[in-house]
Amino acid sequence: MIFIILAAAAALSGPASAQEIRRDYPIRPVPFTEVRLDDAFWRPRLETNRTTTLPFLFRKNEETGRIDNFAIAGGLTKGEYKGERYNDTDVYKTIEGASYSLRVHPDPELDRALDAVIVKIAAAQEADGYLFTPRTASPNKLQPGIGAERWSELAVSHELYNAGHLFEAAVAHFQATGKRSLLDVAVRYADLIASVFGSGKRAGFPGHQEIELGLIKLYRATSDEKYLNLAKYFLDQRGPAIRLTRYPPGNRFAIYNEPEQIQAHKPVLEQDEAVGHAVRLAYMASGMADIAAVFGDAAYASAVERLWQNVVGKKMYLTGGIGSLHDRERFGANYELPNLTGYLETCASIGMAFWNHRLFLLTGEAKYLDILERVIYNGVLAGVSFDGRSFFYANPLESDGKLRFNQGSVGRRPFFNVACCPGNVSRFLPSIPSYVYAARGDRLYVNLFIGGEACVELDECRVVVRQATRYPWEGTVRITVEPSAAAEFSVFVRVPGWAQNRPVPTDLYRYPERGDVKVLIKVNGTPVDMDRDKGFARLRRVWKRGDAIDIEFPMDARRVVAHDAVKDDAGKVAVERGPLVYCAEGADNGGRALDIGLADGTPLLPQWKPELLNGVVILKGTALSKAVPSSGAPRPLTLIPYYAWAHRGAGEMAVWMIRK
Ligand SMILES: [Zn+2]
Repeated sequence: MIFIILAAAAALSGPASAQEIRRDYPIRPVPFTEVRLDDAFWRPRLETNRTTTLPFLFRKNEETGRIDNFAIAGGLTKGEYKGERYNDTDVYKTIEGASYSLRVHPDPELDRALDAVIVKIAAAQEADGYLFTPRTASPNKLQPGIGAERWSELAVSHELYNAGHLFEAAVAHFQATGKRSLLDVAVRYADLIASVFGSGKRAGFPGHQEIELGLIKLYRATSDEKYLNLAKYFLDQRGPAIRLTRYPPGNRFAIYNEPEQIQAHKPVLEQDEAVGHAVRLAYMASGMADIAAVFGDAAYASAVERLWQNVVGKKMYLTGGIGSLHDRERFGANYELPNLTGYLETCASIGMAFWNHRLFLLTGEAKYLDILERVIYNGVLAGVSFDGRSFFYANPLESDGKLRFNQGSVGRRPFFNVACCPGNVSRFLPSIPSYVYAARGDRLYVNLFIGGEACVELDECRVVVRQATRYPWEGTVRITVEPSAAAEFSVFVRVPGWAQNRPVPTDLYRYPERGDVKVLIKVNGTPVDMDRDKGFARLRRVWKRGDAIDIEFPMDARRVVAHDAVKDDAGKVAVERGPLVYCAEGADNGGRALDIGLADGTPLLPQWKPELLNGVVILKGTALSKAVPSSGAPRPLTLIPYYAWAHRGAGEMAVWMIRK
């Protein structure tokens, strides 16, 4: 790993000063507007998001006063601010998701609905650009935590966090519609913030990272470098040099007296362990990757890699989820990964996807995409029900059917008082096609195996690439390429770690038995020797219209064990097949899932069940009783994909079973 850090540093360092802007990510993602999904697994989920979840969340935003807060702040309606101080962001995230949806599905009604909300948002903006409805709507009834003055309680106020989500929504809306209505609002607010904060101005940084990501998107949309410099400024400012507000014991914000909670205990470049609030850390790391890319900043590149090593090596669940503890929604100690009480906020899984994708774009290493795939198919997808109307905030790897782990519920809930996760899912799902392909020079990257078609611009040609596959249920993938004219270029096909006896790129999880790892790749029917490059198979040749790549991944069910230091998984075994983590749920196993013993070597046979859970491959095997193996007769065992759990009422569920 040291070698890789040094290699990355060498590639990024140079004579220029840190503040000089030189580049962006060397690898470009192929935007989802250039990718048409035709995939039996993902397409229904994205359609449900578009047709059900987004309208459902708009309605919830209305019913709960979240949209009214803007109208009140703008003087369009009478009333007082309602709800939590970060509720503006639920509206912003829904606008972002709806904008992504509009880009691929023109919908005049949705377009008009967005216009109507944006009128209220614009009205809520104060004359100098300030936009934070808790203060503007109710100046005489200020909520605890927002501070008596603007920017006076940055550690907890969420003023800058809300701004970040506004910027992301505004860029998405502008790109979808060409309208500047929300972008102009965002630019005015960003200009105000840039006039207040920065070198020689007010010092400070947000308690909840997010504005950094929004500012960088705003920079890319407007080419105004001051937004970029401000993003770096906020990251550079984190650390003990700025004294945070101290809250008395018993105050609801006293938890923020610990700078670790908001990653302010050390400068970001010196942080080497992921601590505190997990979503904040993941957003911060994503912003650090952006800074590393855009400034070519080697110190940022190695700092964000160190944090990644710690998370993926010691603090990540098998589903790719992070943040072990309900208490303060934070990371536990190294290897502290409780299952029943694990938190794994859905937003933190989405943050892991952002972070890992960025590190791939920075380095070209497939190991980051392994984590991206793991978290999308497992950690994120479990967060929303099949019908798109109920959500998990927490995503534990075990349930006793009783513990109300999901903000007071045992199962998914339609909405939450703190509703960050539903909105985050609604904007993440439509962006999934943008993770499938990427390009650099004459390289076309195939990162994920999702059916459909994409247009990819390479240096010398334009390529239409198509994938046909029943992944993740089957391991067969056919990729056809159609260059505008016959041309020499490289197709980089990711060979997942799970297909190479390596579930994760660290020693946190491993397959105890060496399995069949024969990945077959053929070009136009002829097997090819794999030329490996950073976890990809590199296929370089003169490609012509209709050339086909056939890939066969081994799809045996694999047992997984955790590092010995993970006490909660000691003596236990989990099961994966392809990119999917499996679990035992009571509904399939006589009501019990917590007493299942799984003997090494007993077969686990896949069966396609089109009628079950919207169509899943289950695994059938034999379970042993946990307590007295000799007394209990072996009983049939059925495992289902983890993402599909909790659709049949409350009951027991376990990812980790007793290893026999
Ligand atoms: Zn959340």
